[in-house]
Amino acid sequence: MVAARPLRAGRKMRDTFTRKYTDESTEDEYVFTFCCDICGKPYRASAVCRGNKKGLFRGREYRRALRAAWHEAELHFNRCPCCSAWVCDDDFDMSVGRCKACEDEGKKKGSERD
Ligand SMILES: [Zn+2]
Ligand SMILES: [Zn+2]
Repeated sequence: MVAARPLRAGRKMRDTFTRKYTDESTEDEYVFTFCCDICGKPYRASAVCRGNKKGLFRGREYRRALRAAWHEAELHFNRCPCCSAWVCDDDFDMSVGRCKACEDEGKKKGSERD
């Protein structure tokens, strides 16, 4: 087992995933956990078998595995169109179609105007 270490938002794939995700990959499989941008609640995607164990750890296969993991994980997150955060169902207001942070912000602004 490799200790989980948080990855900094990569420059290349910045706006595709949740801001925080962890790579818990082992020698045998790729494992990624994505965290809600608001509360940090993690969703762990199914492990993806590593085909080429001797190959580069961070190669094309790695990126493909990450994409596959996110493809599964994104079903458990909602993208806020206002702040483009990826948030869990608890932090997303379906009725207004944006995250709770933006919704709270909107309410605050609305009450200030009164
Ligand atoms: Zn959340
Ligand atoms: Zn938002």
